[in-house]
Amino acid sequence: MIYDKIVDFVKSKYPNKDFISLHEPQFQGNEKKYINDAIDSTFVSSVGAYVNKFEDMLCEITGAKYAIATANGTSALHLGLLVAGVKKEDEVLTQSLTFIATANAISYIGASSVFLDVDRDTMGLSPNSLQSYLEEFAEKKGGESFSKVSGKRIRACVPMHTFGFPCRTKEIAKICDAWGIILVEDTAESIGSYQDGVHTGLDGLVSAFSFNGNKTVTCGGGGALITNDKKLAEFAKHLSTQAKIPHRWEFRHDHVGYNYRMPNLNAALACAQLEQLPAYLISKRKLAAEYAVFFKELGVGFVTEPKGAEASYWLNCLLFNDKQDRDGFLEYSNSNGVMARPAWALMHELEMFQSSHKSDMTNSEWLADRLVNIPSSVIK
Ligand SMILES: *Cc1c(COP(=O)(O)O)cnc(C)c1O
Repeated sequence: MIYDKIVDFVKSKYPNKDFISLHEPQFQGNEKKYINDAIDSTFVSSVGAYVNKFEDMLCEITGAKYAIATANGTSALHLGLLVAGVKKEDEVLTQSLTFIATANAISYIGASSVFLDVDRDTMGLSPNSLQSYLEEFAEKKGGESFSKVSGKRIRACVPMHTFGFPCRTKEIAKICDAWGIILVEDTAESIGSYQDGVHTGLDGLVSAFSFNGNKTVTCGGGGALITNDKKLAEFAKHLSTQAKIPHRWEFRHDHVGYNYRMPNLNAALACAQLEQLPAYLISKRKLAAEYAVFFKELGVGFVTEPKGAEASYWLNCLLFNDKQDRDGFLEYSNSNGVMARPAWALMHELEMFQSSHKSDMTNSEWLADRLVNIPSSVIK
């Protein structure tokens, strides 16, 4: 049996635990100090020094000019799509292999998701799938693209860097440019992931991060947008604070806004976590390298970073022979103290998206049948 060998190897990496979860947060830096400081300052809500500090740190880490802290990753995506100009009745192209939040954010606007296939190696949106979908089903009019199927405007494209593995956003950006489509990246899973030395999230107009409890960096709940566009950054911040026109005592609003700002308490936690990101990445990449050697010897598929990319290895991925093999391992591992999880149910298979237009899904289905995430927490 190889399942027991896998489980024993994971246990050897995380000794003295009754149950090893997929991704546990760690608070060994300035977390308590900064949170106490935020409490002492009385600024615990959506205005405060840590919110500004967090945005500055995120700019420094990613190389983006502007960052806007939000309440969570889903609200960041929603806000990113809004400021990218996605409107009700538009279509947005995204991958079927993603977490539900990507598609939900599109639905919040009243736009429709169109689901495309991923590449097998990156597990993110496939430039080939995008190109052939547009050639077959889209037509350009006045610098914008429209669906020949629904007649709707195709406003944006949202690739996602799955499990921290960068996908081909440079090629995707070129295709989007040619078709007058705005590129919005879902970088919720890819803090600390780079392509050709550049942080993920800078190939499009705007990108959205998540700092949820299971992500590489967490602040309980939190998110952020990054962009190099000043006007867009200002508009995103404005919409995230109820679109209130700044004034010392007057309450006046000029848009339907949102209460999407990150509270200072969460930002305090986020700052302490971001300070530790370089150490987290070293630990996660070391674990991935050890997994890679072990699984190669064992003859089990293990996903490694695509060429030119430096992945955060947020969640490590095994690839089993088929669905039956995958389910056999899931049953064994979860019954023997090691959490293991399959990929999400594909978006185009969900009840809400039965009528959504979609491309061929060969790679998404191939991956969904075989993929299993195994424990990937930072090792102290
Ligand atoms: C985590 C995640 C989100 C949403 O983030 P929340 O902070 O949980 O709202 C969005 N997209 C993807 C791909 C994610 O993994």
